[in-house]
Amino acid sequence: MDKKNTGRNYCCFICEQSYDQLDVFRSHIVTEHKEGDDYVICPSCSIPTRDLIAHYRSKHIGEVIPPGTQTRALIIRDVKKK
Ligand SMILES: [Zn+2]
Ligand SMILES: [Zn+2]
Repeated sequence: MDKKNTGRNYCCFICEQSYDQLDVFRSHIVTEHKEGDDYVICPSCSIPTRDLIAHYRSKHIGEVIPPGTQTRALIIRDVKKK
């Protein structure tokens, strides 16, 4: 039997660890990575992302990012190269 698939899988966009629970994924990013440099927090749903504009385009269609919000992580790492 395969591993239980709960439908959602959250992959850390910084170090590529994957989590099947949003809370675990979010606390991993918040404790292991640096806000502003590695990720930004979505002001609408509090999910960490590295590109808020792309996140809004897929998750919050029609919503507007509040003015003054940092929209991109400063350090975009290429996780494919090491
Ligand atoms: Zn990570
Ligand atoms: Zn969001």
